Amino acid sequence: MKISCSAERKILEIPDEGEAVIAGYWCPKLGLCSQSMLLTWKGGKVNSLQSLSPLYHSDSNPTKKLLWDSYFLLPGWIDAHVHLALDSLDFHRCLENWEEPSLIEENIQGFLRGYLERGIVAIRDGGDLPGFSWKAKNKVDEGIWAGPRVISVHEAVSRAGMYGRFLGRGFKDRLEWREKEQDFFEQGIDQLKVVVTGLIKFDNFQGVGPTQWTVEELAEFVEAAHGRGILVMAHASGETGISVAIEAGVDSIEHGYYMTTEQLERMREKEIAWVPTVAPIGNILKYPTDRYSSHEIETLKRILEGQLAKIYEAYHLNVRLGVGTDAGAYRVPHAESLFDEMDWMVQAGIPKLEVFRMATQENARILGSYDLGRLDLGTSMNLLQLMKHVV
Ligand SMILES: [Zn+2]
Repeated sequence: MKISCSAERKILEIPDEGEAVIAGYWCPKLGLCSQSMLLTWKGGKVNSLQSLSPLYHSDSNPTKKLLWDSYFLLPGWIDAHVHLALDSLDFHRCLENWEEPSLIEENIQGFLRGYLERGIVAIRDGGDLPGFSWKAKNKVDEGIWAGPRVISVHEAVSRAGMYGRFLGRGFKDRLEWREKEQDFFEQGIDQLKVVVTGLIKFDNFQGVGPTQWTVEELAEFVEAAHGRGILVMAHASGETGISVAIEAGVDSIEHGYYMTTEQLERMREKEIAWVPTVAPIGNILKYPTDRYSSHEIETLKRILEGQLAKIYEAYHLNVRLGVGTDAGAYRVPHAESLFDEMDWMVQAGIPKLEVFRMATQENARILGSYDLGRLDLGTSMNLLQLMKHVV
């Protein structure tokens, strides 16, 4: 079996049963421990984690023991919003390349390895029309491709003719949706993604593409998913679109630019999570590019400032906050950008270990995968990571 060693950016092959001395651990439930511990695992799962007794001889069982005494054991990271079918370099060229599936699949296998090498053991993919992410999910599940667990929406539900043509086929109206609903779910999905609004405008502060659905329409999609035990993620920005998503009862709001305080309060009441994806805006400013005009850069700065302030407010209001990058978007590289996103959350004013909790425990809840984001007896070794420093 395998374990992510983010400390060395490697995937380590380990036996199903073994023991190792580690430098300490961190997990949301137990907090940080910076003491040498003896870790044992059996059948691929954590079996014991104990302080080293003074009587412990490091050579007691030298054949089985691994040398991890400079590593901390942590739950693997989770990125709650990626697009495996996008390459973060050039959106339009990438879409042209979709005509050559073998090329895209080769890219995706590289991205998947990159995630594991950086300690990211699960990702939630926001979809693509050809179904590349759905295929990747199945290849990983079948053990054919190495990679993190992929929770995939397969394709998103958007209004035909509006934003989202690369994310899904698009539905004209509710009647068309009802006709095809059964098939849509039967093609396989882990979560339902609904496109509620268009994109934010980089050249127009507070500008957002139009809202695509009424509360009644959206609520019908949400009920169709919930009736099947499926969570709903909503792409929404701007006051109108975010309100529609909240009232329709989605489970998470993705992006959520121009969130208001009232909306945050409503989300807390309804236990709706927010995945604020700062990286697609922030990284353009962090890693300068000449692609945008000075007017666009000034607008992006205002948007970033507003988003970080709202994230801090959400944290203090106890709104569920997830960490998702929108990896695949321009300047948001797969795997690496999760560390940018965590930095942005810290920049917003959230303590680092709280951000760690969000990128593990809270993201696990957002993915609906409760075996993730934790370090307990019985946790699978391949859902953990070995990290160099915690703080
Ligand atoms: Zn997205």
